Amino acid sequence: MYIDFHNHIDFYKDEEIDNVINCINSNKIMTIACSMDEESYLNNIEISKKSDYIVPIFGIHPWRVTNNIDLDKFEEYIKNTPLIGEIGLDFHWVEDKDTYPYQIKVFEYFLQCAKKYNKYINVHTKGCEELILNLLRKYDVSSQTIIHWYSGGKDILKQLIDAKCYFTGSVDLGYINHSKEIIKEIPANKLLAETDGPTALQWVNGVYGIPDEIKNVYENICAIKKLDLEEFKLNSQITMTNIIKNK
Ligand SMILES: [Zn+2]
Repeated sequence: MYIDFHNHIDFYKDEEIDNVINCINSNKIMTIACSMDEESYLNNIEISKKSDYIVPIFGIHPWRVTNNIDLDKFEEYIKNTPLIGEIGLDFHWVEDKDTYPYQIKVFEYFLQCAKKYNKYINVHTKGCEELILNLLRKYDVSSQTIIHWYSGGKDILKQLIDAKCYFTGSVDLGYINHSKEIIKEIPANKLLAETDGPTALQWVNGVYGIPDEIKNVYENICAIKKLDLEEFKLNSQITMTNIIKNK
């Protein structure tokens, strides 16, 4: 079994979804379906009814944070989600600095809930790596954190590794040297795979991603880390079981 620890199943168009589900089922790709916001989560729940391999998870993406989010109504979703995501901060792609205080407020709310309900979190860190490190420490949740597609500096990376975070390698490993260098630093038992599908691959090489792209990510990680593919698949499965059990 393959596990895609970060996908956006609800980004696929309605006419694509049957093919996507067939691909996931026939290749046995356990897929963590990250949400962007409430509507995205409800869509992911609907899609997940079509496949036992799709695990919808709730979070508010930093790109979707506004100044009038009613956080209290999300507590029920958080209690029920097997893990939390996509959450985080983005001061790189988000240029409107007015949103930054709101992004931090929403992210801190999720960190508090992650601690309270003992949930793992799937975290976007773009341009905020150090601030995120400090907030993970503040709320004592770093060992239940999956850092999604890290692209920051090596000094913060080392501190996140020391703080026992997990990390995902993504679809750019065949293309971008900095990403390969990052993967080399991460201990094999903290390393997972993702596609950030379907649009991430398109961003990397112009190809719209289908779920079995995860096979290439597994192969790239194993080549860079000199790991046996079957052993890496098994370790990822064990991690998945621990994360999901930890409700
Ligand atoms: Zn994402």
